[in-house]
Amino acid sequence: MGKPKKEIDDRFKKFGTVSFTSITKVNDFIDYLDQGKVMGTRCKVCGRIFFPPRADCYACLSSDMEWFDVSGKGKLVSYSKLEFAPIGFGDDLPYAIALLDYGNYKVFGRIANDVPEDEIQVGMEMTTRINQLPNGQLNYVFQKA
Ligand SMILES: [Zn+2]
Repeated sequence: MGKPKKEIDDRFKKFGTVSFTSITKVNDFIDYLDQGKVMGTRCKVCGRIFFPPRADCYACLSSDMEWFDVSGKGKLVSYSKLEFAPIGFGDDLPYAIALLDYGNYKVFGRIANDVPEDEIQVGMEMTTRINQLPNGQLNYVFQKA
């Protein structure tokens, strides 16, 4: 996956409001975000699917992974509106965190701010899209399908 790089690969610092992990083996995730794509990884050996993407399969220990596009509709499994947030996320309040079920995998993230709270229902279909934060950082959010 990706190309070997000698210098420190810190592309992941661009992800999220506050990025905790700037060095990871799955930095291509950020390049895909820049291209407007939310991607996970699939193990080429056993077919297991990972989101967030992993560079190594915990099931068969293979590192032979390929990227796949998180596309189509997922079903809202649960959500929770946050009135309090971890340090660094306070400016984003209030926002709702949620879990979408895509069948083979689940995606944890936020519901887009423009989805009215009274229209959010467990079981509804949603899609995942890229979102640019006011400070230029990137994340992804869920919107109504
Ligand atoms: Zn595997």
